[in-house]
Amino acid sequence: MTPVPVFSPTTGIDTTKAVVDALANGWLGMGALTEAFETAIAEFLGLGERQVVAVNTGTSALHIALRLAGVGVGDEVITTSFNYVADHQAIRLCGAEPVMVDVRDDNLGMDVRSAERLVGPRTKALLPLHFAGIPADIEGIYDLARARGLRVVEDACHAFGTLHSGAPIGSFGDISCFSFDPVKIVTALDGGCVVVPDGDGRDKLRLYRFLGVDKETHLRYRNSRAWEYDVVSEGYRYHLNSVSAAVGLSQMARVGEFIENRRATCATYSAAFAELDWCRPAAASFENVSPFIYSLRVLDGHRGDFLAHMAAREVATGIHFVPVHRHTHFAGCRRDDLPVTERACEEVVTLPLHSVMSAATVERVVEAVGSFRPAR
Ligand SMILES: *Cc1c(COP(=O)(O)O)cnc(C)c1O
Repeated sequence: MTPVPVFSPTTGIDTTKAVVDALANGWLGMGALTEAFETAIAEFLGLGERQVVAVNTGTSALHIALRLAGVGVGDEVITTSFNYVADHQAIRLCGAEPVMVDVRDDNLGMDVRSAERLVGPRTKALLPLHFAGIPADIEGIYDLARARGLRVVEDACHAFGTLHSGAPIGSFGDISCFSFDPVKIVTALDGGCVVVPDGDGRDKLRLYRFLGVDKETHLRYRNSRAWEYDVVSEGYRYHLNSVSAAVGLSQMARVGEFIENRRATCATYSAAFAELDWCRPAAASFENVSPFIYSLRVLDGHRGDFLAHMAAREVATGIHFVPVHRHTHFAGCRRDDLPVTERACEEVVTLPLHSVMSAATVERVVEAVGSFRPAR
């Protein structure tokens, strides 16, 4: 039997052709295809007045989003320890310090009461993650931000296409960041984007993305470049090249299908695992969720045995996440007590979830999970 991987990007003939065409047209750097990818994202998310700026990774998106929010040397940004370390590194890139708070047990997103306890005079922004694609406590987070005068940068890297009260994540609020890395629902090989409320923010981000060069975006979107230009702000080399954009565009043509398939698989998993007393399936309903991963909680210390059982059946599993406060480089950060994080990070297991997954493969995962018997 072939092993079932945790992630399996869908890159069919359409994506292969997009790459070949993008290589053949001879303009490999940021160009017209980058703009076309941004337009496709804006349409998919129903952005209206809001603006999207494509960049080379989700981590870059987080970095320049935080800079746009005014995060700089000596500031603090509140995020969760139960998160990917990209967020904490992006905060440090700004010269600021991450402050880590606990998560809620129901959605493993930011616990607003924990965040409230840690807001201090140097706090500039909240950086919540929508874990696995399931929305965090958006109302609570924005209420706290309003009350304490904080910016919000949403890490929506898991939630491309998730709806909150009928509106896609990114189509409302302050600043949102997405990733199109190799394993995300839409891949651009590597890529990301920032969504901002207005054209002013967009223009600043375009400078941050391209070394602060003033004419770059305008000319490059016509596959052209300027030999005389001014440098008018700080800037990084974070732009998205044409080949990556072409891959992303080919994926956008199928994103609706990808999300529907993933929802159906998640619903099948949750229904199949509902009666198992040694685990807790993910959120009950995936109707409005664009699921990046399916996260199962294995209870009572049985995770080690469960991982071995799955490996023996050649069904791969993942762990999202090792909490960031346990990493050497971030162990000294200011943080709240993290009881929910400490428990959850010993329980979570990520099961295989692909955008295109055969019924037989889904059944193999269900069988593998269902045949586990915890030692009593
Ligand atoms: C993928 C991801 C990122 C970073 O995106 P890259 O494109 O890999 O740089 C940040 N946060 C979370 C939670 C992610 O899953």
